[in-house]
Amino acid sequence: MSRQLMLTVLGSGDPFGSGGRNQSGYLIQAGEFRWLLDCGVTTLVSLKRLGVDPASLDLVLLTHLHGDHVAGLPFLYHEFQHLGGRASPLGVAGPRGVKTRVEGIYRVLFPLKPGNGRRFRVDYRVLEPNRRFFPTGPGGPQVTPFPVRHQGDRMNFGYRIRWRGRELAYSGDTGWFPALAEQVRGAHLFLCECTYASKRSDKHLSLSELRANRKGLEVGTLLLTHLGPELARRRNIPGFKLARDGMTIRV
Ligand SMILES: [Zn+2]
Ligand SMILES: [Zn+2]
Repeated sequence: MSRQLMLTVLGSGDPFGSGGRNQSGYLIQAGEFRWLLDCGVTTLVSLKRLGVDPASLDLVLLTHLHGDHVAGLPFLYHEFQHLGGRASPLGVAGPRGVKTRVEGIYRVLFPLKPGNGRRFRVDYRVLEPNRRFFPTGPGGPQVTPFPVRHQGDRMNFGYRIRWRGRELAYSGDTGWFPALAEQVRGAHLFLCECTYASKRSDKHLSLSELRANRKGLEVGTLLLTHLGPELARRRNIPGFKLARDGMTIRV
């Protein structure tokens, strides 16, 4: 068990599997706590490949409710239902509508036969922007969701996770907005989406925008993820670090 805040990349690709990369999913380890940040369709496979027991997860933090960030949850639930191994409830936290969306896709993909009860429990929690919380109680890791710009009318989060003086910021999916720099300021590691090379979009970031704004991003390591077709096959990009499926980084 590491006594430091650790990040493992389970999926560094876009929804289309560009470059053969998995969909969004990250494993956070803070001492004995194991959490997921987002859970794409490929996340369960990534966990198994790395030898991580899904039953050991305490919490899943969701940035937003797009399929490449949540549609892996029914497969986790299916595992808990049929392979068991889960004694304590799984926490699933995210923006408004999280329970309806996740329960809806689970029921459609894996309907339970009448009379078959669930063999696991999920505790859903709706998070509010900029309201920090301590999933494991005071003294444990601190989580602060912040609003990002992705779906217009819907709430989409980025997260800051702080533990023992170290801090990870994650952009979720977002277009550029000036307050992003303030939201992530001071993070030791900024896991930042970078879907495009240079295309302008109000839903996703590009490498050109990040280059143009790099000075204003007062963060330690900037780790690019959610890589689209133009970037997913790159091995390195000067000035940035590229996420790779399976990599583990100390925050
Ligand atoms: Zn999205
Ligand atoms: Zn996405």
